[in-house]
Amino acid sequence: MTVILADVLGYCMGVRRAVETALEALDKNNGKNVCSLGPLIHNQTALDYLAGKGLRILDEHDADKAEAGSVVIIRAHGVPPEVVKGLEERGCAVVNATCPRVTASQKNAERFASMNYTVILAGDRNHGEVTGIAGYAGKRFALVENRGEAERMPSPLHSDENAVLLSQTTFSPVEFQAIASVIEKKYKNLKVMNTICPATRERQEALIALCPQVDGVIVVGGRNSANTKRLLQTAQNNCRHAELIERAEEIPEYFFKLDRVGITAGASTPDGVIEEVKNKLEGRSASV
Ligand code: SF4
Repeated sequence: MTVILADVLGYCMGVRRAVETALEALDKNNGKNVCSLGPLIHNQTALDYLAGKGLRILDEHDADKAEAGSVVIIRAHGVPPEVVKGLEERGCAVVNATCPRVTASQKNAERFASMNYTVILAGDRNHGEVTGIAGYAGKRFALVENRGEAERMPSPLHSDENAVLLSQTTFSPVEFQAIASVIEKKYKNLKVMNTICPATRERQEALIALCPQVDGVIVVGGRNSANTKRLLQTAQNNCRHAELIERAEEIPEYFFKLDRVGITAGASTPDGVIEEVKNKLEGRSASV
C-alpha cells in the first residue's frame, strides 16, 4: 500500500503554540496546580497526554473558582479581559496561550471601540473566541451569525456612524461575504476586515489536491472538532472512501485492502497520532 499525507494537515500554528506553552508551564511549575481554563484542544489523545503530564482542566465558566497560587493557561481562542483580571486578582499566575491571530482580532476590536466605532463581529455566539473578542469591543458591539441576522440588524441612528466588521477566525468565508454585503448597505462608513484564519482553507485545499491521487482518505481528528468534520465532508465529496477516526486502532478493516490511502488531519490532531495511523496502514498492509 502507498500512503500519502496531505501537504498541510494536523496542528495549526495556534494549537501547536498552545500545547507547547502548556508543556512549558508544566515543566516550570512542577508541584503547583497547573490548569487550563476549559479543555486546551479538541482532541482526546492530546488531552490525555497533557493530563498525564499533570495538566488539570478547570471548567471554562469557573474562572472564579481557580485556586489562589495556581497557574491558569488561557486557550488559543482567548478570553475577555475581565477573566484575566479576575484570575490575577485571585492570586493566580495567568499563562496566555491565545493564538496571535485571535489576539490581533481582540486588539482590533479594542482599537476601533476606542475610536468610537460600532464593532460588528461575524461569528458563532456560543464560541469562546467570540465571547473573548466581545469583551474588547466596548458597548457598541453587535454579533451577527448569518446573513438573516445581518438583514434584521437595525440601521445606525446617524448615517455617518463608523463601524468595523470583523470575523471569528474559523468563520465560513462565504457567509462572511454575504454578511458584509448586507451590512455595507446599512453603514456608509463600514470598514470590512476579513480576519478568517487561512488554516482551515489550507487543510481543505490540500485535501482536495490529495483526493484524486488515492482510493480512500482517512481523516484523523476529534469527532467533536468542527474543522475535522468539515474535512470528512470534503473527503466524502471527492473520494470513493472516506472515514473519520480518532486513533490508529479505529482504521476500518477495508482500508487495509486499498492500494493508495491518503491521510489528512484536523487542526487539533497531534503529530504522534498521525504518525501512528500512517505506520499502522503501512505495517498492516504489508502482511495482508
Ligand atoms: Fe490560530 Fe488559526 Fe489555529 Fe485558530 S485556526 S488557533 S486562529 S492558527
